[in-house]
Amino acid sequence: MNINKERLWNRIQELGLIGADPEGGVSRFAFSPEDKKASKLVMTWMKEAGLKVRVDAVGNIFGRIDGLAQGPVVLTGSHLDSVKNGGKFDGVAGVISALEVLQVMKENNKETKYPVEMVIFVNEEGSKFPGGLMGSMAIAGKLTREYLYNTKDSSVTTLREAIKQYGGHPDNFLDARRSPSELKAFLELHIEQAGFLEYKNMPVGVVSGIAGPYQMKLCLRGRTGHAGAAPMQGRRDPMVAAGMIIQEVEQSAIEAAFTTRGTIGYIKAFPGGHNIIPETVDLTIDYRDIDISSRTQAVDRIKKYISEVCKIRRLEHELEVTQDTPPVIINEKIVKLLDNTAKEHGIPTIIMPSGAAHDAMIMAELCNIGMIFVRSREGLSHCPKEFSSKEDLELATELLLHSIIKVADGLTDEV
Ligand SMILES: [Zn+2]
Repeated sequence: MNINKERLWNRIQELGLIGADPEGGVSRFAFSPEDKKASKLVMTWMKEAGLKVRVDAVGNIFGRIDGLAQGPVVLTGSHLDSVKNGGKFDGVAGVISALEVLQVMKENNKETKYPVEMVIFVNEEGSKFPGGLMGSMAIAGKLTREYLYNTKDSSVTTLREAIKQYGGHPDNFLDARRSPSELKAFLELHIEQAGFLEYKNMPVGVVSGIAGPYQMKLCLRGRTGHAGAAPMQGRRDPMVAAGMIIQEVEQSAIEAAFTTRGTIGYIKAFPGGHNIIPETVDLTIDYRDIDISSRTQAVDRIKKYISEVCKIRRLEHELEVTQDTPPVIINEKIVKLLDNTAKEHGIPTIIMPSGAAHDAMIMAELCNIGMIFVRSREGLSHCPKEFSSKEDLELATELLLHSIIKVADGLTDEV
């Protein structure tokens, strides 16, 4: 049983045209008309492949092959939404490889002990609404009414409204939950988004753990004034403090551990003119690590530093924690299963951690998870230059196919 690499590749390319930006890349935000069009297209393919298709209350899409026995489901999939001006492969590779696996099983009349399902998680990237990983959070029962009702995009549409317009039933979001007893395992194929596999000259990675993100929103408030008239002495300029904090974020991550990451990805000054001392500066701080103790060390250090800087510079500040997810250590048995299956099929792999967060991280709260990484050219991702080759995608999808069959056949019931 082999996958059809041309079909896999062509589908990824076809999806890349939906929401394509004139300057290259893809902007396909969750709940947008482009997102709808892409989901509909994949649903058509799913139905053509003979899968039983259903959509849950928040917009997650499932395609199923029943098992020979009733039992927990082996789930695989990823997301179709993108960041602004993102790439063609992030998320899409995981959805289309999942479809390929299920389609090949159908074509070969492969029946398994346990049911196999693919999933398209809705709103993974959180490009329009802050947060992200929304679909998997709904499945894991981590979504809250407050979040759905109060979170707004830039045009002040609430998440609840957006889901409604998309055709979902946001008020029934609790129906999207699935219990741990329903799920045997979740396997996600994803592009690597780093340069490690390329550096190691390996097409495929088996993920051993996922770094947990700790994200904060910081608002620094000072006193506005004229850039020319206001003397340097006595200024309460939040931008200077922001600069100091940005440096400290970098330093705290460097000094915490090799695996710690610290990033400021967003900054906004108000009123925001070249000749005005800002009154406020808003910024985001993002720490990630596969080791929670070094992450905590960096987070504690920056919180203390922010208080000190604000005190010395006579600024007020509000610090809000927007995400605090622990790192996930993937069950050794799953890592071994994937690694051994790769060896049996002559697929070169290396075991490695994931720095980026994925739906698998949330699904880990419900069941055993595994992740397969595909080499990314130059490690570029979330940009138009994002690229994984047809051959690498083929190898990773082959690995996904054979691993899913093993788990679904119950050959590894300890998993
Ligand atoms: Zn992704």
